Amino acid sequence: MENLPLEIAIVGGGLSGTLVATHLLRSASQPITLHLIEPRPSLGRGIAYSTDYRCHLLNVPAGKMSAFPDQPDDFWRWMVTKKDPSVQLDTFVARQIYGEYIHSVLKQSASGASERVQFKPRTDEAIAVEPHAQGATLYLKSGETIRADKIVLALGNFPPKDPPVQDSRFYQSPRYISYPWSDRALKGLNASDPVLLIGSGLTMIDLAVALKEQGHTGKIYGVSRHGQFPHSHKFTSAYPAFLTPQTAPKTLRGLFQQVRAEVKSAIAQGEDWRSVIDSLRPITQQLWQHLSPGDRRRFLRHVRPYWEVHRHRVSPGVVETVGRMQKGGQLVLVAGRVHAYEEDTEGVKVWVIPRGTEDRKGFEVKRVINCTGSECDYRKFQHPLIVNLRSQNLIRPDPLALGLDVAENGAIRNSEGVASQRFYTLGSPRKGGLWETTAVREIREQAVELSRELLRSPQID
Ligand SMILES: Cc1cc2nc3c(=O)[nH]c(=O)nc-3n(C[C@H](O)[C@H](O)[C@H](O)COP(=O)(O)OP(=O)(O)OC[C@H]3O[C@@H](n4cnc5c(N)ncnc54)[C@H](O)[C@@H]3O)c2cc1C
Repeated sequence: MENLPLEIAIVGGGLSGTLVATHLLRSASQPITLHLIEPRPSLGRGIAYSTDYRCHLLNVPAGKMSAFPDQPDDFWRWMVTKKDPSVQLDTFVARQIYGEYIHSVLKQSASGASERVQFKPRTDEAIAVEPHAQGATLYLKSGETIRADKIVLALGNFPPKDPPVQDSRFYQSPRYISYPWSDRALKGLNASDPVLLIGSGLTMIDLAVALKEQGHTGKIYGVSRHGQFPHSHKFTSAYPAFLTPQTAPKTLRGLFQQVRAEVKSAIAQGEDWRSVIDSLRPITQQLWQHLSPGDRRRFLRHVRPYWEVHRHRVSPGVVETVGRMQKGGQLVLVAGRVHAYEEDTEGVKVWVIPRGTEDRKGFEVKRVINCTGSECDYRKFQHPLIVNLRSQNLIRPDPLALGLDVAENGAIRNSEGVASQRFYTLGSPRKGGLWETTAVREIREQAVELSRELLRSPQID
């Protein structure tokens, strides 16, 4: 047993899986075999960094996008030496270039790894698992199997759910794109075709600017309940921490009031509200964890839309493009909810109930794309791997169904609430427990901690 290598399998080679692999390759000194399974042709990119559109920029400046928490300017240095010496710490770089960086970080770690570490990346997809007394077997789409002591499910973001309407037959139509990141989302349109995008967040903005980049001249309607775009980034000075996890109010109402008062006073002193929101970032997870389950629900119901547009901001360049599109009348933002679809041979009429009214308003378009954001309810996913994990009671959703129920060390809890010693996760699936867990800053820290956890000696469940 002593001499057998520790077998670790990582399912998902997006940013999360790739960073866990990177840290294992850099730090493991004992014998390990590391499998990294990803169906996409290139590792490190996942959904966010696979895009071919140059207009898809990071929404965080280069100086804050390092893969390594202890070398905060690593990405910026890589950019300056390998790509463009003019890049500044505050430049918003194209996401496809960031994918190249993550890929290169993995490659470099693999070539510098101890000779006791074997790295086995595979282009494949995991579809089932079979737990054993120790470890588990992973079944892959290709028919191959991998036996591992520990398995990391770095599955990231799932497609959005279809918005509820009375008659959902239109969702089977080729005019409807349910997965906004699919290759065909923007293909096959005539430049003048009107398009309706459901949602007005980061995904909708991504698609609107991509349409612009491909020379689209037709109308683009964005429909969302609140009809609000995310705000723009602005370079501001750091704001002093005005709350600590200990002193912060433990109720949503108290927290909301204190943050609002601080924003007001900051603005009165000539500061920007962004600095106040950003000063909460280091303690956001703890603030979330101190809220009662009821307050977390209330946050999701009432505060979330406002939090999202203030916290998840967009680069000034992208905001400028979107602003120009709106001013020129090409992009129209509608506050309301999609109510019904009427499709004929020419296109589809989308009936929307504008916010605060009972009337219907019709928009005639050639294509509808769902940009409402990733679905996170693991009870609903139909991917064979998730169905398989559910059927064996190996996973359960967190109480708010924002992801999975996960222990502090990243171990996945089964349906009885017992933390596994085989199955782990990071990133989006931890949203219920941490709330702030989907951006690079949090994922890179989780990747370091999880790689340490995985290298502790294997135990039997
Ligand atoms: C469009 C977009 C832009 C973003 N921009 C930024 C930004 O600028 N800055 C920032 O900090 N954060 C950004 N984010 C946040 C982003 O979530 C993280 O940065 C990160 O990309 C998440 O990586 P992930 O690996 O967890 O998920 P994903 O990128 O979703 O990757 C998961 C991977 O798992 C694979 N997979 C799934 N199921 C299986 C299976 N059964 N078998 C094998 N493989 C499987 C998928 O193919 C996929 O490649 C952005 C997110 C999106 C969606």
